[in-house]
Amino acid sequence: MENFIFQNPVKLIVGRGMIARLAKEIPSDKRIMITFGGGSVKKNGVYDQVKEALKNHFTVEFWGIEPNPAVETLRKAIALGKEEKVDYLLAVGGGSVIDGTKLISAGILYDGDAWDLVLAGRRVTHTVPLATVLTLPATGSEMNNGAVISRHETKEKYPFNANYPLFSILDPEVTFTLPPHQVACGLSDTFVHVMEQYMTTPGQSRVMDRWAEGILQTLVEIAPKIRENQHDYQLMADFMLSATMALNGFIAMGVSEDWATHMIGHEITALHGLTHGHTLAIVLPATLQVLREAKGDKLVQYGERVWGITSGTREERIDKAICCTEDFFRSLGLTTRLHEENIGQETILEIERRFNERGVKYGENGTVTGTVAREILETAL
Ligand code: NAP
Ligand code: FE
Repeated sequence: MENFIFQNPVKLIVGRGMIARLAKEIPSDKRIMITFGGGSVKKNGVYDQVKEALKNHFTVEFWGIEPNPAVETLRKAIALGKEEKVDYLLAVGGGSVIDGTKLISAGILYDGDAWDLVLAGRRVTHTVPLATVLTLPATGSEMNNGAVISRHETKEKYPFNANYPLFSILDPEVTFTLPPHQVACGLSDTFVHVMEQYMTTPGQSRVMDRWAEGILQTLVEIAPKIRENQHDYQLMADFMLSATMALNGFIAMGVSEDWATHMIGHEITALHGLTHGHTLAIVLPATLQVLREAKGDKLVQYGERVWGITSGTREERIDKAICCTEDFFRSLGLTTRLHEENIGQETILEIERRFNERGVKYGENGTVTGTVAREILETAL
């Protein structure tokens, strides 16, 4: 096990009707800016619940944080936040609204352009306090300090680190209105978050392995049931908690991490706008295939414990484990090959070029260079 320090300060407030708690959780003298996406919260009653809870607070609203939040939009929110002298932010939405609001929370206290903060690659801790009402289980953004910000002008998308939310409210009922494609992408994103922390050198931590496998097994069990009935409170509660637990630092204790699949996926979204979880369903099976030698022992363990693969030679078991992974994504209704999304060699070469230009080396052992990323993407064709 590697040395580690674990501290996650986010207060989780979970369950039916919990949005009403906003009134108690946010001090009454705060000047709050509430941030939203494109309007789904107006259709499913979340907006009304938030407004009712905060009827005695000062609030100003910012609408229009789009999926894969763009700095171009967030600059406008930062300007409004400065103008209104807000000292508290409440993000109401999915990972995009929450991620975008993390940049807003840093940008309000920064004099320069918010994109500088993204490019600096340092965690920004001088931020306006932030809380969230989560409407889409997927990113874990409600309980981590990460965010992923896009820039439309240059078709770029990069991770950025800021502060943790003070608290996050998770009411599984608000997920009932999610479009099925977003549910599929949320399940896929959650699955891959676990894999990025689990599919690394074996033997680092038995307890983290079991936690990770527990989340993966839960996802495999609930996914088909959710696809049949997404209005089942218990199922959606398990989905929500799986997504939060998958990326709040918990399962990363003392183990190395990978994240190559995510970094390649971000490029596909930046260039083609494909939904985040969908890009991962395309990239992960190919990453496992290309890195199968380095990840072989862990793939065998994963195959046995998550998919019940107990027979065959080592190579056959690895093949089956990768196959089950791709089948799982397909069972969610997602395509798993680039050509199915009309993405071809031109994009692959552009991603290789970008990685080479930036001189990046992703993955647990820093082996995923531009050339290896090209190999992964060609495997995913
Ligand atoms: P999202 O982009 O926040 O939302 C996708 C769509 O779902 C939006 O159109 C939204 O509509 C709609 N929606 C959300 N909740 C809904 C509900 N309850 N009912 C109906 N529609 C609803 O999706 P996401 O997957 O949560 O976030 C994706 C972003 O997070 C990507 O940029 C990804 O790179 C990033 N990410 C971040 C982390 C992290 O650690 N911070 C990790 C992984 C990925 P409205 O806009 O109308 O609300
Ligand atoms: Fe993700």
